[in-house]
Amino acid sequence: MNNQELTINWHIAEACNYVCRYCFAKWEKSGRELLHFSDGIAAMITEIAKLPVLFNQQKGTSFDSVRLNLVGGEPLLYKAQTMQIIRAAREQGLALSMVTNGSLLDDEWCEVIARDFKGIGISIDSVSGQTNLDIGRHAKNQLMPSEQVVRRIQAIRAGNPNIGIKINTVVNQLNYRENMADFIAEVAPDKWKIFKMLPMITEDLSIDDTQFQQFLDRHQEFHHLICSENNNEMVDSYVMIDPLGRFFRNSLQVCGGYRYSQPIYQVGAERALTEMYVDTEKYRQRYITIKQRKAA
Ligand code: SF4
Repeated sequence: MNNQELTINWHIAEACNYVCRYCFAKWEKSGRELLHFSDGIAAMITEIAKLPVLFNQQKGTSFDSVRLNLVGGEPLLYKAQTMQIIRAAREQGLALSMVTNGSLLDDEWCEVIARDFKGIGISIDSVSGQTNLDIGRHAKNQLMPSEQVVRRIQAIRAGNPNIGIKINTVVNQLNYRENMADFIAEVAPDKWKIFKMLPMITEDLSIDDTQFQQFLDRHQEFHHLICSENNNEMVDSYVMIDPLGRFFRNSLQVCGGYRYSQPIYQVGAERALTEMYVDTEKYRQRYITIKQRKAA
């Protein structure tokens, strides 16, 4: 494997201001989430910084750096705590990115993201207000207009023209017939990641391969931006940490939930990593393909 960046997806909080029917950000929990403890955050970031070397030792990979991708739930929900994680990560020299539903992006967040982040992903499953209401992509019936997303992305780009902008879309029963071409053309993201809804926690709104393909075919003009993932490509191929600071696995063989390691910040990354499985070939395929597309 060529030298490359290890991406760690830390789901820092389960809570979200949206209520998507197929949300799979649900973990078995006992106790408060790690982001509420300053000492825990510092210990966790220190352990995450060790992961490229530990991966190379334990899994035979060749990672030379790490990018911490903050995900949720909604990572912008707990502002002070997320800011603390960002500061700690920058002090350790980690690259940063985030996936957010975008509804809480304000001027301050746009500035921080433009200054400290390598990339930002915004999850947009539909540009139809009714579809977003039906999916549950609203905060107490409050919708985010797509013009607001465009304005926020423009502000982030104005602060950092080199930042990577990604749109994430989950294709499901309510949007697989939709045409998002005008929106994507206006945003002009560097990447459009399109997922087939993963029936991990619920099968509500799931689709079949033909319906997924229909959505992809309708947006063929953006093939140079699109990275699509079916259910098989999505499982066992991400390195993921839950809000309690444990690695977790989303294997299709583990029905109705996840498998967890012990908390990384307590037992140390070296030991926790021995309790975690990742399909390094699938991981490699995803990130190598993205690199090759960028180079093309
Ligand atoms: S926006 Fe994301 S985290 Fe929030 S409810 Fe929807 S799928 Fe879950």
